[in-house]
Amino acid sequence: MTDIQGKRVLVVGLGKSGMSAARLLHARGAKVVANDVREAAALGDSVEELSALGAELALGGHDPELFRGVDQIVLSPGVPHLPALSAADRAGVPIASEVELASWFIDATVIGITGTNGKSTVTTLVGEMCEQSGRPTFVGGNLGTPLCDVVNTPAAQGGYVVVELSSYQLERVSQLHVQVGALLNITEDHLDRYASFAKYTAAKANLFKCQRAGDVAVIPAGDALCAQLAAAGPARVQLFGGADGAVRVDAGQLVDAVTGPLLQVSALKIRGAHNLDNACAAALLARVAGVTVEPIRKVLRSFSGLPHRMQHVADIDGVAYYDDSKATNVGASVAALDGLAPSVTRIVLIAGGKDKGGDYAPLYERLKRCARAVIVIGEARPIIQRALAAATFPVATAESLEAAVSQARALAKPGDAVLLAPACASFDMFKSYAQRGDVFQSAVQRLHGGA
Ligand code: ADP
Repeated sequence: MTDIQGKRVLVVGLGKSGMSAARLLHARGAKVVANDVREAAALGDSVEELSALGAELALGGHDPELFRGVDQIVLSPGVPHLPALSAADRAGVPIASEVELASWFIDATVIGITGTNGKSTVTTLVGEMCEQSGRPTFVGGNLGTPLCDVVNTPAAQGGYVVVELSSYQLERVSQLHVQVGALLNITEDHLDRYASFAKYTAAKANLFKCQRAGDVAVIPAGDALCAQLAAAGPARVQLFGGADGAVRVDAGQLVDAVTGPLLQVSALKIRGAHNLDNACAAALLARVAGVTVEPIRKVLRSFSGLPHRMQHVADIDGVAYYDDSKATNVGASVAALDGLAPSVTRIVLIAGGKDKGGDYAPLYERLKRCARAVIVIGEARPIIQRALAAATFPVATAESLEAAVSQARALAKPGDAVLLAPACASFDMFKSYAQRGDVFQSAVQRLHGGA
């Protein structure tokens, strides 16, 4: 359904994305019904805003009768698989994710970026490249501003829309059309939400299934699974990285097969093999979308990374401290270790948090080569301890992140790095990965005074 004028549309989940969807629906003449498991008291100012929009409020649960009786449902990405949604499916009520709704009103060059890791980094890089090109640009989606907010901006009509897409957002899409779509990588994540890895990869593949002939699908060179998922759609495939990517590293330079050498790898401020992949992917995406070489070069040269992604915090007594709190799955922690290991003697890793049901064996394999010690925190402690049971390096536990930092300091030797790359979500102990990173950074700064 793209004509929502006069239709009764239920918005499920009233966080940032749901509220953005409610505003858009109201502006386009729909009768909005706003639903959340939370009660009004927990929703703060949103309730007032929804009332001002004339929305009907249905709070404190998910009533299957309500879900069955509307013309359309719009889902916020954080909403789990609810019985009421199954009831709506059975009743034939169309269900769209918030990004799908937004896409009905966008007529722009849309660049969609998904993958298990690196999405925010690549989205930011491509967004800056597009901005530098001078065309009106919107950067958002899973990163920052919800996509529904783009609809009334100049970027939505003829500009660039650069959108980070999580697997959750890629459920329930059928018309989300990205002219250029990237799947950066895919490893285990979110197995607390998906019944299997195959279900997770299927959500990612929806990006390609919604593409059209003449579009471009960007995937890593030499990745059979990404290739298989891209083949689910009609787009032309372009590879990045590896030995035969259209943008790749060659003899210490980032090289674009079409436009030639871009810059020396040593001129990049972001570090680690995974960030080289990110840089290649971003340069390819921007070029395919029509950005010229100068803005691409300029952004690659200046970009120094996002907070809490391999962020250097301090050097204390010959030990470097890095905050990679955004490493919320095993693949990201492995990438962080791989990126750091060549430049330090050994690594003291702080890991743990809320487990997501994945396998920690790949982490253990990497740690065997580079660990001084591991300190485990949070709910996942017993699971990670079991995965590291055969370790020949010390595996300690800590009650708090602050205590983990003190223990890490005691275990690290000059030349080592202390790395927070938890391989887990933060929600058992913190509000977000960002708060976890801030707590880590403050604890490290306190070490300066010898406290
Ligand atoms: P996302 O938005 O997908 O979570 P980010 O750019 O925020 O991606 O990076 C998340 C974490 O994943 C970082 O902390 C880093 O350790 C790791 N990472 C970043 N890029 C990659 C990549 N290309 N491959 C593997 N891990 C990566």
